[in-house]
Amino acid sequence: MDPLDILLNKDKIVPFYQPIISADKQIVVGYEVFARMKTESGPLSLGSFFTDDTIPEEYRNEIDDYVQTLALERFIETPHLYLFLNINIHSIIRDDADRLMEKLQFYQTKGLSFDRVVLEIKEKDYASNYSDIKHLITYIQSTGVKIAIGDVGISSSNLERLANLKPNIVKVNVGFLEGDIFPELYRDVLHSLSLLTRKLGSTLLFEGVDNYTKLNFAWRNGSRYYQGFYLGKPNPSFVDAEFCKDTIKKEFHRFVEYERKKIKGQLMLTEKLSQTLKATLKTIKSYNDLDETVLKIANALTTYTFRVYIVDHDGFQQSSNAVKSEEGNWELEKDSRQKNWSWRPYFIENIVRMDFEQKGILSDLYTDIDKDEMIRTYSFPLENALFLFIDIPYSYLYEQDGLL
Ligand code: CA
Repeated sequence: MDPLDILLNKDKIVPFYQPIISADKQIVVGYEVFARMKTESGPLSLGSFFTDDTIPEEYRNEIDDYVQTLALERFIETPHLYLFLNINIHSIIRDDADRLMEKLQFYQTKGLSFDRVVLEIKEKDYASNYSDIKHLITYIQSTGVKIAIGDVGISSSNLERLANLKPNIVKVNVGFLEGDIFPELYRDVLHSLSLLTRKLGSTLLFEGVDNYTKLNFAWRNGSRYYQGFYLGKPNPSFVDAEFCKDTIKKEFHRFVEYERKKIKGQLMLTEKLSQTLKATLKTIKSYNDLDETVLKIANALTTYTFRVYIVDHDGFQQSSNAVKSEEGNWELEKDSRQKNWSWRPYFIENIVRMDFEQKGILSDLYTDIDKDEMIRTYSFPLENALFLFIDIPYSYLYEQDGLL
């Protein structure tokens, strides 16, 4: 649409509100405001108008200002809800946000609560002019108004900068993810994001939740708030606070059931390995020849594993690797002796735990560098401060319930 048509038809522009739903109460806690133009063929998004740099900024600001005012008028009637306003940080920084803050102060006298106002800045918008932006954000937060970093991409997110900005809310956009299976890499980046926001005391909000899988994804990654077409589209009016409560409750039940099954599967495997192993260990008279020990254990546990080795409590490997050949025979890799594993994630923690609890641990799913496939490792405390490691291949995990 011609930008001029937008400017000349301001009276046809209205705010649309997309509900934001909380995980804890499953109710609408706020709305993000979008500008829409009423046309004969239905409401038209003005998203491209606001992001088109060829349109003079004052025009865009004028429309932005107009929609914001309409939204603020509406929100003073519902002061308990969060109002998410999309802000062009480069535009408000020109007057140190004076105009915007004056406007908010005006509505504050009419009942608007500052701590319910969330100014949403796009992650890519603080790529330049970072220190000025940081300064302005700190000032805005000091008034009680909240800052959200929106559109945080999974591939592009710069965790260090995000941490430094200390936003109140981090909006992770999962809208662009396609299909039902998310690459492992996304899961890990999201996991880091989720840990980071927890440390910072920021609230995590997943936006672009447009199907069941993404809601599950948000739930598993510690998102406190959800936003997306799967739950609610932008509307010209507010929706009932409990409009999707029943749906979410049902979905949560399915999620919990699924996780329960997974955890049960892991506990059952741990138990099975522990039993088989204990029976095998009883037949081992001495630990003088550790290569002989790993071969014996490997043969007894051959259904579960493709690699077995023994390490001391400093992480130095004391046996060769027993490795299963294509034909299913066990062979020794002598050069793996004296390799050190203490630098690996969780290694020390697991050693101490095994030593203390005197029982085995099943690891999470991770990629084995040699085999280049997802595996789990079962580790178990032996005598004389030695620890046994049993690598379980993908092919086995795949056959069982809840292990992937
Ligand atoms: Ca937004």
